[in-house]
Amino acid sequence: MMQRLQAALLNSIMEPMNTDSENKRVSVIVPFLNEQENLPVLYERCAKVFQSLEEDLEFVFIDDGSNDGSLPWVLQAAATDPRVKYIQLSRNFGHQRAITAGMNLCTGDAAVIIDADLQDPPETIADMIVKWKEGYDVVHAVRSERKGETGLKKFLAHVFYRVMSKMTEVQMTVDAGDFRLLSRKALDALNSMPEQHRYMRGLASWIGFNQTTVEYVRDARLAGVTKYPLIKSIGLALNAITSFSGTPLRFIFYLGGLLCTLSIGIGIYLFIVWNFIQTSPAHAGTTYLTLAIFFVSGLQMFCMGILGQYLRRVFDEIKERPLYLIKQTNLDGAAS
Ligand code: UDP
Ligand code: MG
Repeated sequence: MMQRLQAALLNSIMEPMNTDSENKRVSVIVPFLNEQENLPVLYERCAKVFQSLEEDLEFVFIDDGSNDGSLPWVLQAAATDPRVKYIQLSRNFGHQRAITAGMNLCTGDAAVIIDADLQDPPETIADMIVKWKEGYDVVHAVRSERKGETGLKKFLAHVFYRVMSKMTEVQMTVDAGDFRLLSRKALDALNSMPEQHRYMRGLASWIGFNQTTVEYVRDARLAGVTKYPLIKSIGLALNAITSFSGTPLRFIFYLGGLLCTLSIGIGIYLFIVWNFIQTSPAHAGTTYLTLAIFFVSGLQMFCMGILGQYLRRVFDEIKERPLYLIKQTNLDGAAS
């Protein structure tokens, strides 16, 4: 009797969520830092895409410390369009944390993360939603072509994605940026991860579930300048490696082992040659010693640097600082 009552109660609570008559909602998460020329165009193009879809649209704009006309535009849009939600972070926390804020607070049955500069074409969202309806939880958009980026950045990105996929224990999708769709299940899984150094591309692959890809051509930025100069991209790559791979640590281990074996081997070899076969040259000792000192101290610094990277991460994690702070939002912003 008691059990039945409980089941009935549970059903009545669950029912409103399960009604199929209501449209599903897709949140479009847009982190932005000074993108005033791009936001209105992005808004128009996304809205147009959803006109031909049965899903409802929710915009979640995250202001990551802009100081141009971006935020006023978003506030204006929110005042006239109830689909527009916004989160203003208290300062610039960086792209990955801005995305995290959007993922934490969005209310959709699925969410698409998209850059504000229209390098990711909103029209691809329709393809992603098709995959989502087929039952996929993570739909990575893979760049089949990159327009408007420097040759060096493209080359380094190409090499990085391939090295990275060899180095990590999780299988990562090559050439996928942050443009992806996440089902509610995937969102909840990602939201349950408290880690500070959030390499979203890695985390999205790490959670598993049903993953797939759609291809798209990455356009050039519509307006404004990149907020990811090469040096920041290298920082992101370093973060990705140290957060997701123990390979650098293993590398030191093998390198150290190899070096010990080699130096002992060469020592024995030279001892035999110089004592039993021929006499040693006068300056050989000093030359070799100098080179060896330079080599070993350089190597030590390199290895300590790698260890330092990991230590820094441990240090950051144990502080358990909130990932971001919200200044204002029209979403239910209790969690942060
Ligand atoms: N962005 C952000 N916070 C930052 C840097 C960038 O929210 O600290 C946003 C930016 O406005 C854009 C997206 O992240 O919507 C990607 O940045 P960008 O286009 O500059 O990077 P790129 O495509 O050149 O790698
Ligand atoms: Mg861009």
